[in-house]
Amino acid sequence: MKSNNKLYSIKMRASENKDGRDIHISGAEKIVEGRMLPEYINCLVQRGLNHSKGEADFINVKVEKINDDNLLYLDALSVETVEVDSPKQGKMEIMRLLKEIGVCNADGIMELLEETYSMRGAMLLDIHSLKRLEPDTGRGIRATYMDKERNMLTGMQDTKNHFEEALVLATKVANCPGIIGEICISDDPDYVTGYVASKKTGYRRITKMKEPGSENGGRIFLFEGAENDVEAAITFLEKQRVIVRNIKPLNTNKKDRWERIESVLDDMREKNLYRSMNTISSAQSSHVVINGREFVLMASNSYLDISAHPYVKKYCLEVLDEYGFGSGGSRLTTGNTEIHDRLEKRIAKFKECEAALAFNSGYVANVAIISAIMNNGGVIFSDELNHASIIDGCRLSKAKVVVYRHNDMEDLECKIRQNPCENGLVVSDAVFSMDGDILNLPEFLRVCNDYQLFSMVDEAHSTGVLGNTGHGIVEHFGLKEKPDILMGTLSKSVGAEGGYAAGPYRLIEYLKNTARGFIFSTSMSPVTVAAALAGFDIIEGEPERVEKLRENVKYFCRCLRECGIEQESDTPIIPIIMGDEEKAVEKSKYLYEKGFYIPAIRYPTVPKGQARLRVALMSSHTKKELRQAAEYIAKF
Ligand SMILES: *Cc1c(COP(=O)(O)O)cnc(C)c1O
Repeated sequence: MKSNNKLYSIKMRASENKDGRDIHISGAEKIVEGRMLPEYINCLVQRGLNHSKGEADFINVKVEKINDDNLLYLDALSVETVEVDSPKQGKMEIMRLLKEIGVCNADGIMELLEETYSMRGAMLLDIHSLKRLEPDTGRGIRATYMDKERNMLTGMQDTKNHFEEALVLATKVANCPGIIGEICISDDPDYVTGYVASKKTGYRRITKMKEPGSENGGRIFLFEGAENDVEAAITFLEKQRVIVRNIKPLNTNKKDRWERIESVLDDMREKNLYRSMNTISSAQSSHVVINGREFVLMASNSYLDISAHPYVKKYCLEVLDEYGFGSGGSRLTTGNTEIHDRLEKRIAKFKECEAALAFNSGYVANVAIISAIMNNGGVIFSDELNHASIIDGCRLSKAKVVVYRHNDMEDLECKIRQNPCENGLVVSDAVFSMDGDILNLPEFLRVCNDYQLFSMVDEAHSTGVLGNTGHGIVEHFGLKEKPDILMGTLSKSVGAEGGYAAGPYRLIEYLKNTARGFIFSTSMSPVTVAAALAGFDIIEGEPERVEKLRENVKYFCRCLRECGIEQESDTPIIPIIMGDEEKAVEKSKYLYEKGFYIPAIRYPTVPKGQARLRVALMSSHTKKELRQAAEYIAKF
């Protein structure tokens, strides 16, 4: 079914059995691409099942392939709405419109309209003789095999739209040879609108043709021509496959609130920026299962492959057994357990800080910390490649934000001079998440100290990665001094979930009392916290993981170079920059076919035109896997 874009007609008819008789409840039809058939069949069956007219005993679904050469594309009739207050006034409008079309015998036609109420199909009427032309007057003529032109999007929220369905039918009928117009009142008890349509006048929507609840509706096709031509008209109405284009939403002055959403998504598709998720059905490790197939995962932030470590599982189960899952409240109310306290002590010890505070995610940590520290105005100096959560924290603060050139300490100093302030913060990723390069921390700290600004470093990708024992960027540079605020996540090397701030007591006490993302959110599950605690124990208890990761980085870069791709990196984040979004997506697809899962990273995660494969290595990748990946990357 995957890429079947041939067109199929689906028809659904639902009926109820009353005293042995089949009573029609609802019917609908669509013309859709083959790959969308299952969704639409489902959608139509749902419609048959849930109709206000009754409960279906019988639903008939018919699917037929459509041959391209038997398909007619028509432009939708133009639409005008005629507001009326009562059905009586509505009928007068119909008479007036019939005259506009050129029908003389409007009174006679209106009298016949009532006769159609009991028919399933339409009456086909000769406008001069008022003779009925349907071969079977009980059944009438059914205009069928038609739909609006659709794209994937309209499909997804394709609920019943009376107006569109009526306009599609009216457009088909108005284009039928010999038909000069149509009158219709819906038989749906909830839909009181009717219309007169013709090629000449377009689609005139009349707002009230009956009282709500009434099933009195029907339609007349107005025929003008020779008797010999009746057959051709009926064939067109009942057999010709038609797709109607350019349907404009009703109330053009009142914009459909979903239209903007759809157009944004459409735009993304066009630019190869549309994203969808892959579903993994195994643990996050160097090998994962996607759609039943095994892949080498080379994109995960779980650099030390800890998340499914037996010790993590064992410890989490113990804590689950003792505490259950949900924490039931925020940390300041009922959601603080002994496990939470232990985690924060563990983080402080790991980062050699006085204290630490845990947040529900790294994202929340950045947003909460920055907006709390900078809630009195002042200036934030932020690296241009900082993570989105830092950017959002800056936006939420009351500070002015000054962006400096990536890892450029001269530019930072220059911008600080240009923006003197009482209260200032300089914030940077330690390892940049999409480029894998390392902050020049010694210079960064010198500048912050010289100008008495708070320094904050995001260790999302440096904890467990940088430094001989994986303690992070301070260990990497062998510094005595630390940034004022060490922020980090528990979700990457640590293999769990959550974020943190580590630093002096007074900082942590301040955040506990002011950081809204900490105060106003239910705390993490003790089980999640346990996973993080276990993660830190493993990083320190199995230092060979950090070492193996570093070796893998060296080896993989060497493989790339041997395959002709110049690459050097000090971190497991190794970007293969492609530039063009489509190219990056295609290369990622190629690697996927070869069994390597390395998604393309595109705008807005990286700047436009800098799309890339972001290779992320794990300590558990084998040399063979690394070499093979490098070869496939170079080959495509
Ligand atoms: C992933 C990441 C975050 C967000 O952390 P989560 O735990 O995923 O919410 C923050 N900063 C940087 C630099 C990151 O890479």
